[in-house]
Amino acid sequence: MTTERLATRARQHLQRLCVEIGERPAGSPGNQAATDYVAQVFAELGLAVATPRFEVLHWAGGDVRLAVGGETFVAEPSPYSLGCRVRAPLAIASTVEEVDSGDLAGHVLLLRGDVAREQLMPKGFTFFNPERHQRIVAALERARPAAVIAATGVDPSLAGGLSPFPLVEDGDITIPSVYLSEAEGERLARLPGAHVRLESDAERVESWGCNVIATQGAGSTRRVVACAHVDTKLATPGALDDGAGVVALLLLAELLRDVPVGQGAALAVELVAMNGEDHYANPGEMAYLAANEGRMGDIALAINLDGVGYVGGRDAVSTYGCDAALEDVIAGGLGAEPSLVPGPPWFQGDHALFAMQGVPALAVTSERVEELVAAVVHTPADTVDLVDPEKLVRLARALHRLIARLPLDRVAGR
Ligand SMILES: [Zn+2]
Repeated sequence: MTTERLATRARQHLQRLCVEIGERPAGSPGNQAATDYVAQVFAELGLAVATPRFEVLHWAGGDVRLAVGGETFVAEPSPYSLGCRVRAPLAIASTVEEVDSGDLAGHVLLLRGDVAREQLMPKGFTFFNPERHQRIVAALERARPAAVIAATGVDPSLAGGLSPFPLVEDGDITIPSVYLSEAEGERLARLPGAHVRLESDAERVESWGCNVIATQGAGSTRRVVACAHVDTKLATPGALDDGAGVVALLLLAELLRDVPVGQGAALAVELVAMNGEDHYANPGEMAYLAANEGRMGDIALAINLDGVGYVGGRDAVSTYGCDAALEDVIAGGLGAEPSLVPGPPWFQGDHALFAMQGVPALAVTSERVEELVAAVVHTPADTVDLVDPEKLVRLARALHRLIARLPLDRVAGR
């Protein structure tokens, strides 16, 4: 297929996923429409497709009304928080010690300053959970406030470009919470003990989602996996994060149809639209790990695409746990593509899932990922005009070349 034709396909896919569907958090109607679409495209290209379902919490935000001592404040519901109707006095804490030592039960608790400087990792997130975060969450649960108001600024490393950012994003916490800007927090902090009226219409909704797993050469247990995440945060069209990565997988599927590399060979190719990278419970990743228990060792190489095809820079490649021979093959397969450059390692992506299990892994993201994460990722600004469809074509072609070159001694299972 010509580059021009593939680029047109890329534009169609981006339009469908990131404009017509838009936000697609795991469990949302948009998410189900997106996994349907991806499964349909894979199937039309002749791949064997599985869509194993899992249960997942979806969430409806709604309005927040906050009035304290006769003044009103602008606040947002924390994603996946319960809603509430609370009338209680205001308490304030800026350190974990203050949360631990105060008599806060039944109060509305304003968290600001040091205790609110980093987005708290979800309770159930076991891969990476700093002790400091666990301590704050445990202290909050012991203190039993009626609700939490968090005053926050920015935290690019954990919350992307959001300002203010939700301190709490966790469907496993039962204390209702909202968040607001540091300026609003400053104003609120002048009113300790004042009467708070806090109403949030947020609602948790039991739902389902699925990974989409397309395979070529399913007869072989030894396989190469390429993945990108189909879900987004709430209220973002998720073009760079990670609609573009999913589109690159769909292009790779086109190339595999034209020139199969898994068929009848010792190596199967598995393309995975992973569903949960941006959900607090990582439901798709957990489901994938559970379904592959004891089979992760069959994976010759896992490739993760996240933040690819940015118009303003090249794609950056990093590797994890690859030996010298595999590094050579990767360099040979990808090296000829000028839109790809070596980049530093990063760990907040689905390749970590594989790398932590000892599977050799490769990640592709933008060489300008830091500035994208600080300003664009997880926000309404992550739109399709930031994605270059032709770069996605070049990436898919380079990956196709790489997969075709994986040496047989490796893929036959050493
Ligand atoms: Zn992502």
